[in-house]
Amino acid sequence: RGVVPENHPRRDSILVREKLVEAMENHVVVPQGLIAHGRGECFDYIIGEKTERFAETAIENASALLITAKNPVISVNGNMASLVPAEVVRLSEIIPAKIEVNLFYRDRERELAIKKVLEDHGAKKVLGVDDTSEVIPELFSERRKVSREGIFTADVVLLGMEDGDRTEALVKMGKKVIAIDLNPLSRTSLTANVTIVDNVTRALPLLIKKVEEMKKMKEDEVQKLISNYNNKAVLREAMKFMSERLAQLSLVL
Ligand code: ATP
Ligand code: MG
Repeated sequence: RGVVPENHPRRDSILVREKLVEAMENHVVVPQGLIAHGRGECFDYIIGEKTERFAETAIENASALLITAKNPVISVNGNMASLVPAEVVRLSEIIPAKIEVNLFYRDRERELAIKKVLEDHGAKKVLGVDDTSEVIPELFSERRKVSREGIFTADVVLLGMEDGDRTEALVKMGKKVIAIDLNPLSRTSLTANVTIVDNVTRALPLLIKKVEEMKKMKEDEVQKLISNYNNKAVLREAMKFMSERLAQLSLVL
């Protein structure tokens, strides 16, 4: 593969693309995953590729929900496994939460490839491969298969780069859904209970840090954070930030 010059202004973004292309060659990511990534990059460009206040607020609440959940599950797809495998495993250990492979385009080879990536990064147990005996109501075919121990009985589910139909179905099942999605306009962002409008590569390390801090807080303080949270306000803030940033940039042309 071509060498990316050290001083290339978009070097980090190019390196992430190369990582995803390699993951596609290893059957971890599907071509559609690359397209989804491109859509995310566009929104990241608009927010300025930095974690903003609205994401920090959502991360704080996500952390509170995860550490007080009875059965929290981190749902992992090909993009998550390629971009943040070590962070997924670390987060699952400190919450603690289960990890489940949950694919839009499910096939045996990919399930196993993703499971292996997670195990290579230290995961002891990965659900969603040979235990998908349950289905999410309202979804069709392979998309709806989930593990009984995992997503099916979870009270809180963390999703990154998820499809809108599946997010909606999980919310209808009564789960608290935390989504990491750079696009505040996606159906996933609009229907999740907590939307972290940020890149998974920045959001997961921050979430890990927050969970570590919050584990030292008193339970009633954590509960207070949860009851004061307003996801609509967070989404509004994200949309407003994007439009204001574009307006500002247009002035300095
Ligand atoms: P929806 O189905 O929710 O209406 P969509 O069809 O536009 O959304 P999908 O392809 O189903 O999008 O889901 C992928 C989502 O993941 C997109 O909203 C995209 O912005 C987001 N995304 C892609 N890469 C990243 C990333 N690295 N970090 C966070 N979000 C990302
Ligand atoms: Mg979609």
